[in-house]
Amino acid sequence: MTSDKPGPTVVFFGGIHGNEPAGVAALTEVTNTLKCEGAALDKGSLIGIRGNLPALLQKERFLDHDLNRIWSRSRLETVLAKTEQERSTEEKELVLIYELIQEVLQSYSPPFYFIDLHTTSSRTRPFITINDSIINRYFSRIFPVPVILGIEEYLEGPLLSYINELGYVALGFESGTHDDPAAIRNAADFIWLTLVYTGLLSDYPGREESYNRLDRASESDHDFYEVFYRHKLPDTHNFRMNEGFRSFQPLPKGTVLGSERGTPVAMQKKGILFMPLYQKQGEEGFFLIRKTPSWALKLSARLRKWKTHELLTRLPGVRWTDSEKDKLEVDLSVARFMNRPIFHLLGYRSRQRDKTHLLISNREHKARNDDYKNTFWFSGH
Ligand SMILES: [Zn+2]
Repeated sequence: MTSDKPGPTVVFFGGIHGNEPAGVAALTEVTNTLKCEGAALDKGSLIGIRGNLPALLQKERFLDHDLNRIWSRSRLETVLAKTEQERSTEEKELVLIYELIQEVLQSYSPPFYFIDLHTTSSRTRPFITINDSIINRYFSRIFPVPVILGIEEYLEGPLLSYINELGYVALGFESGTHDDPAAIRNAADFIWLTLVYTGLLSDYPGREESYNRLDRASESDHDFYEVFYRHKLPDTHNFRMNEGFRSFQPLPKGTVLGSERGTPVAMQKKGILFMPLYQKQGEEGFFLIRKTPSWALKLSARLRKWKTHELLTRLPGVRWTDSEKDKLEVDLSVARFMNRPIFHLLGYRSRQRDKTHLLISNREHKARNDDYKNTFWFSGH
């Protein structure tokens, strides 16, 4: 739906995973309420995109491939070059969504916001996940829920990373457990608040209630966390999580979480458990997270204002990998004092290429900060 008055464009995705219908239900509920009450948006446009339709019908996470793991640039190019007949179920969905995104970017007006609604198989507080750019941080911190940074470093080709690389605000919202009615409630509250925070609505009845409900559901946790471990599962796995674990549960080293083909799987380090897997489909058994101290958040925001990549390439052991200056390769045997946490502070995402080489890319230099400079959540920084 579009207002007569021009303004921001907010795009919600629901059902990218077919066994997660709560986002779709919440979007339908909010748009129906707006229509029934004859309430128009105060400005801008609201667009809802239903993700994996064939998988939604089957109530499966996916049919051929995970639709949230095929958005890397190279995979996208390969799929776009295929004929319709050659494409798998999710590749067809990928192309449809890709074309919708291009159309939105061409026909609607900035600033753009993209929000992907999900749920988890385990019990959890509602939470936001973002690629760690400054615009994403500033926008997500106004919601009364915890924010998880850097999960994209562990995932291949999520939808939001693709959108982030185009420079827009993009955040994931995980509203609760798949089949819990509270997950629909939380997602609807989140959508309503987003409409206000982006300026599409100046206000709505029940705004305070939805803020308070989300705050209660998240147990007033408004902290930032970063992922430091992923328990990757092989393609065919037999991983079984033991009953009773939930996201945001702090656990000591050595805690036995589950088993793989009868062998116990224990935590190698202490940490806060995140997204333990209680379903068959999925590539990660669990993640571990830790709180990001507020001094680190402040320091990194300050450091990112500098053009650090120009400086970095003058260091021994650091070089561009491509002519587009998109990625830097760091030889850790030469640049010994550099490590992942330092690059994170400077605004880079990193991937371990091999034992001695890191591949890092800057999250900030593509961000369209100017598009957001007049928003209440970004101006003044
Ligand atoms: Zn999901």
